[in-house]
Amino acid sequence: MKAIVLGSGSAYATPQAGGYWGAAAAGNPKNRRTRASFLYSDGGFNLLIDAGPDIAWQLTDNAVARVDAVFFTHAHADHINGIPDLQRLAFNQKAPISVFCAPETLDGIRNSFGFMFSSRHNERGSDLLRWHTAEKSFEICGRKFEIFPLPHKHMNSYALKTGSFLYATDFDALPEDKAPFFEKLDCLVMETNNGFNFDAKGNGHNDFRDAFRIKERFGPKRMILTHLGIDIDYETDMRKMPDGIELAYDGMNL
Ligand SMILES: [Zn+2]
Ligand SMILES: [Zn+2]
Repeated sequence: MKAIVLGSGSAYATPQAGGYWGAAAAGNPKNRRTRASFLYSDGGFNLLIDAGPDIAWQLTDNAVARVDAVFFTHAHADHINGIPDLQRLAFNQKAPISVFCAPETLDGIRNSFGFMFSSRHNERGSDLLRWHTAEKSFEICGRKFEIFPLPHKHMNSYALKTGSFLYATDFDALPEDKAPFFEKLDCLVMETNNGFNFDAKGNGHNDFRDAFRIKERFGPKRMILTHLGIDIDYETDMRKMPDGIELAYDGMNL
């Protein structure tokens, strides 16, 4: 398995529009975060997790010229606004892209991108996006991916698991019936949007304390924190991470 953190940022990126860096030092490239997106690669097979507004640059900067499948965790703008770009990618790579998401996520995508599902929509590559809904799992190229919902304020965000790898973004609680998915992991990529800002609780996201609890309880061998907001400074906060926990940055290779 090979993977790349294409984007490690929260919904509004770091810096936020206008050059507002918050606590993140502007001089450190690891603080320059595009919207959260992740490439899971195995034996030449490329699965993209989420495609937000920065996806064209993210794929280009990381020399990813081909994507076989995409999984959407949920239908918030920072995770889906790159959908029109996927048409062009499919057209340019001259191969279809299989797109997977939960039925409720597809409803959200149709609300935002209804024109793409109209019979009159004939953008180059639009016929190469193959939409599929999945409730619990999907298989592609002989690989099985399990998905399950986690609470994200007033909606669900779906986590994706294959083997001992789990990607879980945009959630604010871990229901007990989902706990088994977090056991015996070699690698857990999870969101901690709020960093050390514990007062932000209730905004649909985790903070570092939530991540430390998960590490303590389940003991994943490697834990990577992503979907990071502007209150998080890479150098300062990396020093405060317990063993086995790393902060993600754009272009990080796993
Ligand atoms: Zn998000
Ligand atoms: Zn979200």
